[in-house]
Amino acid sequence: MRTHARVAIIGGGALGASLLYHLALRGWTDTVLIEKDDLASGSTWHAAGLCTQFNASLNVTLLLMRGVKLFKELDAGPHGPIDFREVGSLRLATTAARLDQYRDARGLARITGLPFEIVGPDEVGRRAPLVALDGVLGAAWTPTDGYVDPSRATQAMAELALGLGAEIERQTTVTSLRQLPSGEWEVETDRGGVRAGIVVNAAGIWGRDVGRLAGVDLPIVPMEHQYLVTDAVPELAADHPEMPVVRDTEASFYVREEGGGLLVGPYERDPKPWASTGIPSDFGRQLLPPDFDQVGDVLDLATARIPALARAGMKQLLNGPTSYTPDGNALMGWVPGRPNLFVLSGFSYGIVQSGGAGLNAAAWIVEGEPVDNLWELDVRRFGPDAAALEYLIPRARETYEREYAIPFPFEELRAARPQKTDPLYDRLAARGAVFGARNGWERPLWFVPGDGPPGDEPTYRRPAWLPYQVAECRAIRERAGLLDMSSFAKYEVRGPGAAALLDSLCANRLPAIGRVALSQMLSPRGGIESDLTITRLAVDRFYVISAAATETRDLDWIERHMPTDGSVTVDDVTGAWGVLLLAGPKARDILARLTDADLSSAAFPFMAARDILVGPVPVRALRVTYTGELGWELHHPVEWSRTLYGRLLDAGAEFGLADVGYRALDSLRLEKGYRLWGVDIGPQDTPLEAGLERFVAFDKGDFIGREPLLRQRAEGVTRSLACLTIDVAPDDDLFPRGGEPVFAEEELVGYLRAAHPGHAVGRTIGLAYLPHGAAAPGTPLDIEILGERRPASVVTAPLYDREGGRMRV
Ligand SMILES: Cc1cc2nc3c(=O)[nH]c(=O)nc-3n(C[C@H](O)[C@H](O)[C@H](O)COP(=O)(O)OP(=O)(O)OC[C@H]3O[C@@H](n4cnc5c(N)ncnc54)[C@H](O)[C@@H]3O)c2cc1C
Repeated sequence: MRTHARVAIIGGGALGASLLYHLALRGWTDTVLIEKDDLASGSTWHAAGLCTQFNASLNVTLLLMRGVKLFKELDAGPHGPIDFREVGSLRLATTAARLDQYRDARGLARITGLPFEIVGPDEVGRRAPLVALDGVLGAAWTPTDGYVDPSRATQAMAELALGLGAEIERQTTVTSLRQLPSGEWEVETDRGGVRAGIVVNAAGIWGRDVGRLAGVDLPIVPMEHQYLVTDAVPELAADHPEMPVVRDTEASFYVREEGGGLLVGPYERDPKPWASTGIPSDFGRQLLPPDFDQVGDVLDLATARIPALARAGMKQLLNGPTSYTPDGNALMGWVPGRPNLFVLSGFSYGIVQSGGAGLNAAAWIVEGEPVDNLWELDVRRFGPDAAALEYLIPRARETYEREYAIPFPFEELRAARPQKTDPLYDRLAARGAVFGARNGWERPLWFVPGDGPPGDEPTYRRPAWLPYQVAECRAIRERAGLLDMSSFAKYEVRGPGAAALLDSLCANRLPAIGRVALSQMLSPRGGIESDLTITRLAVDRFYVISAAATETRDLDWIERHMPTDGSVTVDDVTGAWGVLLLAGPKARDILARLTDADLSSAAFPFMAARDILVGPVPVRALRVTYTGELGWELHHPVEWSRTLYGRLLDAGAEFGLADVGYRALDSLRLEKGYRLWGVDIGPQDTPLEAGLERFVAFDKGDFIGREPLLRQRAEGVTRSLACLTIDVAPDDDLFPRGGEPVFAEEELVGYLRAAHPGHAVGRTIGLAYLPHGAAAPGTPLDIEILGERRPASVVTAPLYDREGGRMRV
């Protein structure tokens, strides 16, 4: 066994093998894959091998499509065949809401180029004669889906990697991981040690255990998953075109042909986590005992849908563990706080994802960034508290149960809530708040006055909460609103090297003392890594604010670039500071009732920060709002939240101050054309494309991402983020929200990143990256919403208060 490697991959399942292969394709062959058993001995060998490309997320769909493309190539390649069978998938619809889901998904498929049709019951019957059509309204048909032999696919990728010069050590167990001062890892195994520059945790269900060897707690829990294989089914005996993979989404099972019989996999209620506190050390290429009671109900439904099942003998009920995370997506990327440790674990449908994930992981390791936008899989979307079993297990069980549930837009799931709450939670709840959770934090979405209905029924169409949002937006535009934004991520960056560090990370100039600046941090390619609000408290002290969802990610980015000389300290102070946003034309009048501080624009201008007393509460007031109105973010030590909130409510009563939830911002920010990271800006978008050039100080000196931006500026951007108005009539129940295809003269030119009604401007507003020809104001466009077209046109943004006078008043 070798003693040194540039990369050591722990785990020889589909994911580890794919990464080894894709690293080798990029020329990295000083690599070793260490597998305690034989290749594909974990969850991989017993997987059903289904390769679906149907997903609610555009990014994940692209990943799945890469996987299928690779399997097709491997099947035809020198190490094939790998039994990739392109039989297509039919997903049945028996409810109107399900058809809406498919119409929505068809729009997404247009954008990704995935072949996708919605077919009627007759076509279902023709393609899958075993299916009883009772109640079937139609189905989603994805002809390029299929299934594969997972072991062969893994073997083929491993052999290709070996052929390129990579190494594989089988029957070798990694027993400890120790980081050396150089940043390298000492990887101990039962057959000797390897010193590795980079360690990759591709240990699947063992991902949490391997993480612990490196001192990190990853939110991965194994869950039992079973499928039934039948004996030969007489109806399949004659020559016939193979049935597509059929999913009865309401009954919650999949079925495909297998060796003359059928293979039926249920996603049942009350699923079972397995070995959540640690996998027994002797567990290897094994299965778990079958549990008929667990899946009996779904198998009954399956028999009703596929009557031939009733006549088929049972060959095997196979029970195997597979990984789940709190949201069902895998964990990928550099592990925060552990230099040179990469994770590629936690895949609950990792066979079909292996190709795309391995490719992206290799790019991330070799080139510093993934090829695709992987935010949904990024390990940094979770903080350390997501690994607590009390959170992880209920979330994983909910995700498993909902495998085929309709992923309604705006829907907030219920498991393991509330997790993190600030001191106002009960008070806001008593005042009618309907909450959503972000990064575990409960946040008000809207307020229900009196004992009105909560308005949270899930739908793809016009939502029931809309009237509440309209009222809250009006309060902010006409009077004043109060929003609890305590979930903001907040860091304090200080020390003699703080300014130099932030200056090198931020595209914008740092603010002067007592001032606030908005800035993006860019990737080496010039993409938008994150979007920050930075307040300078002193020459060498900064208060940095980011979104709740990116708390771990943004902190990691800053820490990763910290000098090692101890000249900078970064503290995550998220939980220590509460934030109340007071915004609206009456905000100054209300605040003036409670403070002696001079709130005039001369003394306290827009984008300034002051320490003031509000009543008895020490407040760091920032004159910024995400609403386009006059207002202040009132940051305060969290123990003062209730007092501050109470004082503001009292003072605001005579001015019509209203409680406001986050949903209002969806509308207000689009009226102002404000960008939102993770929605309309992200690592795949540059500030020049996003119309944020005014936040890039090219002349300030070097910063990460400057060179590619300069090149892009010289060459000219090929697409830009355009603001559109969409003709959705007030009585129309279509509700575009982002993800809908955009056409110019019948040609697909882009898709909406975001859309929402702008209540003050009386138009539905959208944002889309469009090629130059289509981005000029006045360009007529069409938007496809749930299969229907609505006209749209490019407009000059922002639509509300173009000169920005209202927030500077
Ligand atoms: C019943 C069932 C059906 C499924 N059907 C599908 C499907 O149809 N489609 C699909 O896409 N997915 C399916 N899956 C999920 C799929 O099996 C997994 O997502 C996938 O196999 C994960 O691959 P992996 O490489 O991450 O993990 P694994 O295949 O589990 O590989 C991890 C490897 O790490 C090794 N290892 C662990 N610890 C150490 C150590 N300390 N030292 C050395 N080696 C170590 C293990 O031996 C193992 O081989 C199914 C899962 C189950 C249980």
